[in-house]
Amino acid sequence: MERKKREKFLKIFVPIILTIIIANIVFIGYKLLFNKKKHFLETIDTSVYAKITYEAIYGIHLNFKGTFEIPENVTDIKLILTDGKTDISLPYEEEISDNVLNFSTSKLNNTGINLEKLPLGTYYLMLKGIYHDNQKSYVKYYSVENKTYSDKYQKSFNDMEYYTLTKDGKNNKISFNWNTYENCPTLKVNIEEQKLPDDVYDITIDPGHGGSDVGAIGKLNNKEYTEADLNLKVSLKLKEYLEEQGYKVAMTRNDDSYVEIYSKNGSATLANETKSKFNFAIHHNSFEYEVDYLKGLEVYVADNIDFNFANILINHITSEAFATISPKETYCTEKGIYQRYFSQEEIDDDEIQPSNKTTQMIYYYNIRELGGIITNSTNDGRYEDYPKNPYYDANVTTEPYLLELGYINNEEDLKSLINNSDNYAKAIKNALVEYLNQ
Ligand SMILES: [Zn+2]
Repeated sequence: MERKKREKFLKIFVPIILTIIIANIVFIGYKLLFNKKKHFLETIDTSVYAKITYEAIYGIHLNFKGTFEIPENVTDIKLILTDGKTDISLPYEEEISDNVLNFSTSKLNNTGINLEKLPLGTYYLMLKGIYHDNQKSYVKYYSVENKTYSDKYQKSFNDMEYYTLTKDGKNNKISFNWNTYENCPTLKVNIEEQKLPDDVYDITIDPGHGGSDVGAIGKLNNKEYTEADLNLKVSLKLKEYLEEQGYKVAMTRNDDSYVEIYSKNGSATLANETKSKFNFAIHHNSFEYEVDYLKGLEVYVADNIDFNFANILINHITSEAFATISPKETYCTEKGIYQRYFSQEEIDDDEIQPSNKTTQMIYYYNIRELGGIITNSTNDGRYEDYPKNPYYDANVTTEPYLLELGYINNEEDLKSLINNSDNYAKAIKNALVEYLNQ
């Protein structure tokens, strides 16, 4: 009996089990070979594309502007990054005229898409149309095409690259690639962890003046203090504090040497050369005439920005370094925040005429030239005395701040600046940390 049973088992059940196993292998193999899942780009609507007319990265923020012909019956449109499964909603402002949607991620250059906060992955920039039909709702995805050609710069803006600020010793590399997928134009955004290349930094500090250019001069107890020295002292301390936070810091100078403006490591170029997210130009102020009521902090900023970070800087420097805020009204936009634009007279006096400067552009080169197209850099190589700004037509730039920490020829300020320079440096570091932790 025992033997018969075993024989029956081998003859009947083993072939059945083997057949089931083989059938499964064939079935799974077939699925893998012939039934490949559709790439989600094949599922999007390619009857119409959104046109991206502007792309720029300024500091830690990315902004897009674009237009889109509104499809029939759409009830809502969103701007997203998507991998086909997960959608990341992007900030989105819109204006509609003649059935054309004009959209923008922000009207201000230093808000919009915070690149420090995007999760790892591979995404595509898309518009998502939401439709309602017989109480059912469905969505359609629309891709984007590159229409960034600019008459002013005589070029289109293409791929972009960004490294996030160092955090716990780590960085992400974000690549933006204009591409096509089976004739469909796309903007692919790939975010992966990657160590900073040697020539990429987080922050640049530019201690103003140096060498033969001593800047302003102050006197206290018969001792002379030069602006160049005081700028360097605060800057070196700031570098130390930022490095303690793990940041990689580039300096336009580490000693009393003269810094060219447009050389590779120049005060108008190094921050972009090193892909730094922020540039701090450190200066001390002076008044030309006998107006000794002038004292205190002035923060010079670019145009068309949100003042959030500038205000945090002012709060920290006044509370931690006991600085007062300058009462100066000229160029003052908001308490402590200054925007100096070219005057018509300065434009008329420009070496090269017709000048490409306007009264809407910032006067100080260490703000205007550092932001490329975003801050309306004007040095396109027209001047004989100095070379062209290599980042004149750049759309990926640092976010510049020019700090006039106090008046070197005001006795009270000078005392504080000499004795307190560590606190000024610590306050700037703390302001950056607070801003980035928001
Ligand atoms: Zn200065």
